[in-house]
Parts: sequence; structure tokens; C-alpha cells
Amino acid sequence: MKNVVLLGSTGSIGTSTVKVAEDLPGQIRLIGLAAGGNADLLLAQTRKHKPAVISISDPAKAKQLQDTLGASTQVYCGSEGLLKLATLPAADIVLIAIVGTAGLQPALAAIRAGKDIAVASKEILVMAGEIVMNEARKHGVRVLAVDSEHSAIFQCLDGKPGASIRKLWLTASGGPFRDKTLWPKEKFPEITVERALKHPSWVMGRKVTIDSATLFNKGLEMIEARWLFDIEMARVGVLVHPQSIVHSMVEFVDGSIIAQLSTPDMCLPIQYALTYPDRAASDRVQTNFPKLGTLTFEEPDTERFPSILLARRAGEMCGTMPAVFNAANEVAVEAFVNRKINFPQITETVRRTMDAHAVVEHPTLEQILAADAWARREAAK
Ligand code: MG
Repeated sequence: MKNVVLLGSTGSIGTSTVKVAEDLPGQIRLIGLAAGGNADLLLAQTRKHKPAVISISDPAKAKQLQDTLGASTQVYCGSEGLLKLATLPAADIVLIAIVGTAGLQPALAAIRAGKDIAVASKEILVMAGEIVMNEARKHGVRVLAVDSEHSAIFQCLDGKPGASIRKLWLTASGGPFRDKTLWPKEKFPEITVERALKHPSWVMGRKVTIDSATLFNKGLEMIEARWLFDIEMARVGVLVHPQSIVHSMVEFVDGSIIAQLSTPDMCLPIQYALTYPDRAASDRVQTNFPKLGTLTFEEPDTERFPSILLARRAGEMCGTMPAVFNAANEVAVEAFVNRKINFPQITETVRRTMDAHAVVEHPTLEQILAADAWARREAAK
């Protein structure tokens, strides 16, 4: 039985994680749940799974939940609540699926308390990959990936050392504007928010769906892979694979390539992270090859999607640059969703912010957060 703390239980990854726990009642126990604002869903999850401790951002909502649930459940609030949950003595693993930078401190707190962490929030490794991985090594804990691509690479590597890798291949669906004939570069300024929110193969949150349309999502994943698997950016490749069946691949030094495949379903990588190193039986995911027929691969079009090149640059420079890349993108996506800038201006905003940034090498967490705040102000200009 694994005792799991889930930070971000009401979001897209959070609700999938709850499903996985329901699939495997004898193997996964949710002992702590934290939510942002959705008190109703958190209450329903708490009634069903009976975690001893929960947390919600807003103190007033926490008070209401405490009154409703009574003494059997301890309700915390705010960032303090996240830290309490991340360090619960009974927790074996802490899954962090909070959007934004709020997951950073809880991730480090969990590691320092000797917990394995499963990371769904990209910001944690993109912004502070060096610090997080160093701390994990120091405390002898695992950093497990929940993202389908990184889970795939982790499964393909199967414990092989970095020296056996020639290249990591992250696959990308290519997003809704992959087709060059339908969506030539000249048409990109006309892309609407509604159109960008229609993703061909995954159902996800709003920010990550826009990031999939710009390929910034893949850029963030390239940087994550660089830290998770301790490999230089030059050996992290991207392949567009519209069917989203091959979730990523490892090319080994002998030329052999191992891929992980399945019908796209986030429950699979979540389950693998929570049950690792075991594989738990589940009928949830089925893959029918004759029905799929063809799997195709193509080079990413960096002319239309320069985010890939910006990500490579940020991941090569390291220091505070990945944090700047991430923060500027968040601001730009928000501006796009609020119809203040057009689609190509998302990338343009990030490029300009990166150009204006003076990188701090091997930064402290404070320097990373300062770079994040600076990039938000700079991008907003
Ligand atoms: Mg992904």
C-alpha cells in the first residue's frame, strides 16, 4: 500500500489521479488532498477517500470545510497547508499537480522530508531543475515524472545510466495547427482563442492546451527532460507524432531504440509513478494496433513554431533562463486568452523577454523566484 499525498486534487491531473486511486483501492491510499478553489469537489473527494488531512487556498473556505467535515479531518489553508501536506509523516509519495510556481516550495519540502515526489507541475523542474535534482540526490529520494513523455522515457531507460543514451526523443502531437497547408505561417495571426483550445488528442487544462498549440509545452518538456535524466540539451530531440501513441523514445548508444506506446490516457503515467517500481494490473487502457493502422513521424516545424528553438536556448544557457522562458510564456498565454495579443506574439513576447535577461548561473531559489518576477513584469510590458 502506498500512502499518497495529492497536491492539486481538483484539476485535470488531480482528478485522473483520484481515478487511479479508485482503480487500485488495495494499493493506493490518498492520505492528503489539497485544492486551489474548488471546495465542492474537494469535499466530495474527502467524503469518498477519507484523507486525514486536506487543504484549500482560501482560509474562509477552509473554515467552512472544517465545520462541515468535523474533527475527523484536519483542514489547512494557503501555502502553509501545502507544506503541511507535503511533509506528512505517513506519506510515501507526494504528487504535485498545482499549476504555476506554487508547487516549488512544497516539492522541496517533501524531498527534504525524505518523500519521493511525482511531478506533474512543469514549473518545478523547468525553473528549479538543478536545485530539485541535487536535493533529491542528497536526500536519496526519487523524482518521478507524471508527464506522459517523461514517464515513457523513464520506462524505456529502465534504470540504464546516462552513458548508454545516444538521444532522447520526445514526441509531440503537433497541436491543432500542425498541418502546414491548412495553417501556413501567414494565417497564424488569425488564430482565435477558441480554435487554439481545441486539442486533437488530449483533454487538458487551458494553459497546457494553448502551450500545445504553440509547442511551448514541448519546449518546457525538453527542459524538464534535461534535468530529470541529467542529459545535455543537444541530446534531447523532438519528433512530431500526430497519433500520440508513441509517448517518447530512447535511442541507445548501440543504435537500438526503445519506445513506450499506448492509447493516450493520463491515468497510465500517473499509475506508473504511484506504483513504481511495480506494474499494477488495470483494464483502463487498451491499444488496438490494427484499428490504429498507421503511425507517422515528422520533424517539428521550427519556422512556424520557434518555441522549440527558444526552449533549446533556455535549456542550454540554464541558470535563471528557463525560469524566464516559463514566466514570460505564462504572461503571454494569459494575454492571448484575454485577446490582448495575437498567437505569434506569444512566442515574440518570450523571445524579447529572454533577450533582455541577464542570466544568473547556478541560482538559489530566491534568485530563481526573482528572475520569475522580473520576467513577468518585463513580458507584461
Ligand atoms: Mg506531455
